[in-house]
Amino acid sequence: MTRFLAEMIFLAGVVAWGAIRIPHEIRNKRKNKIEVSSVDRQERVLLLISLAGLGMIPIAYCLTRRLGFLRFADFDFSPAAAWLGALIFVAALALFLATHRQLGRNWSQTLELREGHTLVTHGVYRLVRHPMYSAFFLWGLAQLLLLQNLIVGPAGLIGFGTLYCFRIAREERMMHEAFGQHYAEYADRTKRIIPFVH
Ligand code: SAH
Repeated sequence: MTRFLAEMIFLAGVVAWGAIRIPHEIRNKRKNKIEVSSVDRQERVLLLISLAGLGMIPIAYCLTRRLGFLRFADFDFSPAAAWLGALIFVAALALFLATHRQLGRNWSQTLELREGHTLVTHGVYRLVRHPMYSAFFLWGLAQLLLLQNLIVGPAGLIGFGTLYCFRIAREERMMHEAFGQHYAEYADRTKRIIPFVH
């Protein structure tokens, strides 16, 4: 594994992620009306921070490192760490695919409930309440291992971690308000993002 190959793997992962998400987004926009929306300025800023950390910064780095972009922060390249990062990226994509399929028409990019929203508790949602967020953290970890640069590597975990910290309580409150006792029981028997741990 070389730095160049690690960058190409990261970019391929981003394209694969888009191939999972974009058709879902188009289908949902066309068919499903939003019934409850908690989207405000804070939520939009958080989405932007997360997008910068997981997407804009690493993509710009992969495309322009040869021109010197953020190269001063590169450290000695470890092929073994990069291979591990590639494996973790594959696991993140598999989990994304599962969460998109299982959330189905209930999915939205942000804090929204759709018309006829149902509570999903099967599949990977049986293991944790927020498996899509687990997948984003895996992506962040893969980025740290693949893009061995002091700024670009941790940017994903920092960007998504910020969104997670500020969003999670609001999302759970919204779900509690919509599904009451049903959500309370679901929350009692599951953890948030790591089975049995957190
Ligand atoms: N936090 C979840 C979903 C992320 S998508 C995860 O990590 O897998 C965000 C939207 O999904 C939220 O606005 C909410 O409307 C919806 N959502 C979250 N958990 C859900 C669940 N268990 N069942 C149905 N919809 C859910």
